[in-house]
Amino acid sequence: MDYEAVIGLETHVQLKTQSKMWCGCANEFGADPNTHVCPVCLGMPGVLPVANQEALRLTVLTGLLLQCQIPRHAKFDRKNYFYPDVAKNYQITQYDKPSTSQGVLEFECLGRIERVRITRAHLEEDVAKNFHFGRESGVDFNRAGVPLLEIVSEPDLRSADMAHAYLTALTELLVQGGISDCDMEKGMVRCDVNVSVRPVGTTALGAKIEIKNMNTFSGVRRALDYEIPRQIAAVQRGEALRQETRRWDDDAGITEPMRSKEHAHDYRYFPDPDLLPFEPDDAWLADIQKRVVELPLARKQRFMRDYDLPAGDAEVFKSNRPLGDFFASAAAGAKHPKSVANWVINNLAAKLNETHTPLANLKFGPSAVGELVGLVEAGRISSKIAQEVFADMFETGRSPSEIVAAKGLAQVSDASAIEALCDQAIASNPGPAQDFRDGKVAALNFLKGQVMKLSKGKANPALVGEWLEKKLRA
Ligand code: ADP
Ligand code: MG
Ligand code: ZN
Repeated sequence: MDYEAVIGLETHVQLKTQSKMWCGCANEFGADPNTHVCPVCLGMPGVLPVANQEALRLTVLTGLLLQCQIPRHAKFDRKNYFYPDVAKNYQITQYDKPSTSQGVLEFECLGRIERVRITRAHLEEDVAKNFHFGRESGVDFNRAGVPLLEIVSEPDLRSADMAHAYLTALTELLVQGGISDCDMEKGMVRCDVNVSVRPVGTTALGAKIEIKNMNTFSGVRRALDYEIPRQIAAVQRGEALRQETRRWDDDAGITEPMRSKEHAHDYRYFPDPDLLPFEPDDAWLADIQKRVVELPLARKQRFMRDYDLPAGDAEVFKSNRPLGDFFASAAAGAKHPKSVANWVINNLAAKLNETHTPLANLKFGPSAVGELVGLVEAGRISSKIAQEVFADMFETGRSPSEIVAAKGLAQVSDASAIEALCDQAIASNPGPAQDFRDGKVAALNFLKGQVMKLSKGKANPALVGEWLEKKLRA
């Protein structure tokens, strides 16, 4: 019997806010332990939380980007448990009335468009971080109370590759939407992987294994590549899998049992009496609506459609939005947007990378690139000369026409000038000239090269070819 994997992800991302969720402490990574703390985020008794408005806005904005329902009534609940990372013995989260629900994320995976339903995206607070040194342990509360979004998918993912592509697309959307920097190195994205297997063609869900706290996407892929065959082998041996929580051991490349799964009733969720329900009104929602950006996949499709670009180019302009916007302006009115894209990707982006220059510091605007491509297409300069012009533009910010005029780089298409250059090349290279007459066609390229050299790259290559042939066949 064939089995398939069924995967659902719970992804936690840190929101990009100045301050923490319930207090004014900085939401900043990398500070000395316990320097961004106050009685509120240390969980002292008697303090009162005040909700961070920007965190609420970013939560709803995420819901809009994921095409979720945004209910007019949401609330905060306490999830009770005992552990040193949560001094007040509960974590504030949204349990049964989350701020967003029932959305969808579309993304590409292995050349296909996949669609994964989003169960909900709710707001909660991060907890402190435990450190262990030899026989002692310490707790750093800098992260306690940092706003976190938990984005829960339906069990719609079917493979390790698909899970990886989902996470990549989700974080790309969140970064571009200004929701989170999703910096993995700083622990801004963590994810719980839920996976079960079932016979292909059946719809009932198998017992789910939850792999906790994954912090790299490649780790998620490797954990699934291990876990899926493990489960399939077990059911094929006739073992009944039971619901459990496992841990991924990255060094060993295996998952191992951690604990049997706790249930919701173990947490004794109840509405936080210190916090008002969250009830956004029309005006508040309309403001958030203004912050919605174009979805990355839609952007890629638009670049392919409107500019007739290949997927690879459109992908670049999807991931690098400023570069894509630059291209769009440069290509406005262009005859061949693809040529403009080539310049922007192969020359401009490469040069920016090479010189570590931010696009914002570029000395010329998009129209200059459009102009440069126009000069090549009109036959005013060769593409080789265009490289020289481009290098000058990059240094000085002068316009392409200005550079061509100042340096006398205009392409030579004048017949008598080209004829004279051809004569000169043939006269100084009798050997190759004879080779061509004897039928060695390749010798023409050599002669063509010589003429280009004589003209310092300025001769019109097509005309040079024509004239050489004419002369040699005469
Ligand atoms: P819990 O309350 O234990 O966290 P949920 O039912 O809320 O469980 O689901 C958590 C995640 O697990 C979701 O992403 C969901 O899609 C996924 N999931 C639920 N059941 C299964 C299953 N049988 N196999 C794989 N994933 C599952
Ligand atoms: Mg869970
Ligand atoms: Zn604080």
